[in-house]
Amino acid sequence: MKTDPNCIFCKIVAGQIPSQKAHEDDELLVFHDIHPWAPVHVLVIPKAHITSFYDVAPAHEAMLGRMMLLAPKLMRDLGVTNGFRSLINTGKDGMQEVQHLHMHVMGGPRPWLKG
Ligand code: AMP
Ligand code: ZN
Repeated sequence: MKTDPNCIFCKIVAGQIPSQKAHEDDELLVFHDIHPWAPVHVLVIPKAHITSFYDVAPAHEAMLGRMMLLAPKLMRDLGVTNGFRSLINTGKDGMQEVQHLHMHVMGGPRPWLKG
């Protein structure tokens, strides 16, 4: 599995940086965002280091499908039943701050801090 020793999310996957995990399987990790915008705000990431949404390839097709399938299940499991937002920031203009592919999934009663 590809990892980047300087990547903060790879360090979370490796357990070198603590996180509040919401889901873990062979391929994916989900943890709560450290600066939540919404009452529930999790990040769904592949365990392998993929720099951004620009860097996905046909080999990632099944993994990307699993990321999408996980979002509504997680929201239901976390008690979010009134709707949620899913967001993938990509590259400089997409305001991506952490250079490891991640999908924000946010829900819970409004008002939210952002979004
Ligand atoms: P983005 O702008 O899409 O790259 O978002 C990166 C997100 O990662 C931000 O919402 C940060 O709050 C979040 N984040 C950064 N470091 C951590 C961390 N150690 N644990 C949890 N979330 C983090
Ligand atoms: Zn990484």
